[in-house]
Amino acid sequence: MHRIGIVKAMKAEALPLIERLGLREGPPPWDERLPPRLWSGTHAGVEIDLIWLGRDERHGVDLIGTSAATLATTLLLTHRSIDWVISAGTAGGFVSRGGAIGKVYLGRSPICFHDRRVPIEGFRESALGEHPCMDATELSRELGYELGVVSTGDSLDAPPQDLEAMDRLGTHAKEMEAAAVAWIASLHGVPMLAVKAITDLVDGPHATEAEFLEHLHTASDRLAEAVARVIACLPS
Ligand code: SAH
Repeated sequence: MHRIGIVKAMKAEALPLIERLGLREGPPPWDERLPPRLWSGTHAGVEIDLIWLGRDERHGVDLIGTSAATLATTLLLTHRSIDWVISAGTAGGFVSRGGAIGKVYLGRSPICFHDRRVPIEGFRESALGEHPCMDATELSRELGYELGVVSTGDSLDAPPQDLEAMDRLGTHAKEMEAAAVAWIASLHGVPMLAVKAITDLVDGPHATEAEFLEHLHTASDRLAEAVARVIACLPS
């Protein structure tokens, strides 16, 4: 039986998926002082492990972003024998590139970081990442979700230099974890897929924070549906 790992940043995003897939929380097979938490179960004939990045106990919020995603993905792929890893979450979209609230994208390869600038040969490319993910063309055709460029940074806002980088990359989904998950997956030789639902429009008229919170639940439901459909469709 195949085993799929799902990496999730925010608990509010994870809960609809945990419910839909009927997963149960188990004691983490790592030192419990490390924040990531694990839910497991079987769905559509596939074993599933969902890892949530965990809580920042000092500040009482969800851990988000690339450091926490790197830690969680490393723990998941070290402690479980995973065949596919999915970075599932919400993202900012771009009206100028066809984005809309609630739209779901399957990530194209490669996945880059849009906020790392190191103008020294070699380090520049390393910082950009360009981490591979699986070719989702067939899934996109079968399920009707568009392929999109996913890019990753550690901020919710979008200063001009990041926007320039995202314009160069042609980003459809701006988020904070996928490139880190893709990096760790590639080190482990595990195929990775990004599934992202749009909660806010980076080039739209509304403030990102307010728009994000307004659409978080709707987008998380769309995302849960998309991930369940993707799981049922992954080649066995
Ligand atoms: N204020 C929020 C924080 C959400 S941060 C709260 O309730 O705590 C954003 C999370 O959603 C990250 O995990 C990121 O991957 C994703 N995300 C959604 N929209 C984003 C955007 N416009 N830019 C960056 N990340 C975004």
